[in-house]
Amino acid sequence: MAAEGSSELRKQRPIIEFLRLPSDPSEKPYLAGYRCQVCNAHYLGENRVGCSKCTSTEPLQDVRLSDRGSLYVYSIIHQSVPGVPVPYVSAIVDLPEGVSVRCNLIDVEPDPAKLPFGMPLEMVTRTVRERREKNAEGAEETIEIVAFFFKPSHN
Ligand SMILES: [Zn+2]
Repeated sequence: MAAEGSSELRKQRPIIEFLRLPSDPSEKPYLAGYRCQVCNAHYLGENRVGCSKCTSTEPLQDVRLSDRGSLYVYSIIHQSVPGVPVPYVSAIVDLPEGVSVRCNLIDVEPDPAKLPFGMPLEMVTRTVRERREKNAEGAEETIEIVAFFFKPSHN
């Protein structure tokens, strides 16, 4: 059974553009951002024409954002769409670059006593969905849709 599975074409695709999944398996997934070369402000996600902090229009530089952060604020979600297990924790995580990331937490109890503000977190990725697609050669392949989460960091 394992041999059968390994011959199948599988690909990973990030659920959102700024989550990068390096093709080299020794490299960890990361969040892509941009850095202003004038004032060092960092931004998550899509590129922009200029820096909204210092108004420089120098091209922003691609950066790999830290996979460590701290819990800024959260809500415990008790109701969601069908198929999404509740309760879960929706949070805003502060990265050391001064960027805030909205995401869900995993490996935590949805209990305010276990969720101190400022708690250290680290980014992890999980396959959240799979779908079958035909590639350019007409072969069926399985696309793993990968999302990022943050979980408590114990070091
Ligand atoms: Zn700037």
